[in-house]
Amino acid sequence: MSVRTPIYLDYNATTPVEPAVFEAMKPFFCETFGNAASRGHCFGWKAEAAVDRARQQVAAIINGRPDAIVFTSGSTEANNLAIKGVACARRHEGRHIITQATEHKAVLDPCKKLKADGYDVTILSVDRRGQIDFEELVGSLRPDTILVSIMWANNEIGTIYPIRRIGQLCRERGIVFHTDATQAVGKLPIDVEADCIDLLSLSAHKFYGPKGCGALFVRHKPRKIDLNCQLDGGGHERGYRSGTLNVPGIVGLGMACEIAMSRMSIDAARLLALRDRLERGLLDRLEGVQINGDPSSRLCHMTNLSFEGVNGDLLMGSLEDICVSSGSACTSASLEPSYVLTACGVSACLAHSSLRYSLGRPTTQDEVDHAIEKTVECITNLRALSVMTGTTLNAAS
Ligand SMILES: *Cc1c(COP(=O)(O)O)cnc(C)c1O
Repeated sequence: MSVRTPIYLDYNATTPVEPAVFEAMKPFFCETFGNAASRGHCFGWKAEAAVDRARQQVAAIINGRPDAIVFTSGSTEANNLAIKGVACARRHEGRHIITQATEHKAVLDPCKKLKADGYDVTILSVDRRGQIDFEELVGSLRPDTILVSIMWANNEIGTIYPIRRIGQLCRERGIVFHTDATQAVGKLPIDVEADCIDLLSLSAHKFYGPKGCGALFVRHKPRKIDLNCQLDGGGHERGYRSGTLNVPGIVGLGMACEIAMSRMSIDAARLLALRDRLERGLLDRLEGVQINGDPSSRLCHMTNLSFEGVNGDLLMGSLEDICVSSGSACTSASLEPSYVLTACGVSACLAHSSLRYSLGRPTTQDEVDHAIEKTVECITNLRALSVMTGTTLNAAS
């Protein structure tokens, strides 16, 4: 089999910029370089026109209004602006915030900071599938609850959360609802109106746009969401986010949205078939493999698998030219098991021997087949090794 290596299967971490996105961005570096805030001349007007167009493209993919889009440096900033912004603006109405255990650190850490500042934070637990219990969410709402932040889809295990139900619940109770939709935008249909979303974070580099550019949708009709800005300065983005706009990045984000919208169903169908081929290929040939995430509500282009009886530390290294993500997070040189898998009740040991394969637009069937071969080979060898050395690693129990 001739397949170009290394093989990238880590599209949930980031994606390459789509050539058409790059082409759209190009003129805005050296030629049309104006500051979108320069109101007095044509350099500024051209930049502003490009930003306006991108604002429409971004709004369209979530069925929002263009003037509800606030450009940011990505989802980390959008999440911080949403969570800290609402917490500060509504602090006299209440100080209780609800989120859940598998959120990205860009949600959990701002919540942790608020907790240290005297807010009350409820972190909902999840079941083996990574799913929250809706009744537990209902039961945890209080008169002083000001914000619920639940992600659309999980980056590690792919679990998709019941966003519309949560949105409707929050709307009825007058609670602001934020969703980190970083892994959903461009992949799943999103409608901030029908889904009752007040705040939504997205990031260009997760769907074939450039790194360092994203947006926060901030509802202002029928009910305006009060938000304290986190960056003070020139009052850009209607005062929500000061700082000279990243015009090339914003143009790229807009184009990435337009392309993703037109290809969404085609991409999804193709990647679902490839993902199923990958899972079937591995499950047919290996014993002791568990699929993580919610089988009935899961992103279709990825899989997170736990391999019993494998030394997790050796696993990533042995895969060599297959670039996937491991169930361990490198934090200051120590390998810790993924907190997402741990929250799902996966043992630390099994979490270590877990891999996330995420497929993307450039992924081919040959790449998937090569990944299957290589994974089967590695797992088989590592299991034989642990039998030889007499170590029983996370034996099936
Ligand atoms: C990647 C990611 C982020 C961070 O986005 P950046 O734009 O890289 O800051 C936040 N949340 C989720 C779910 C992600 O996958």
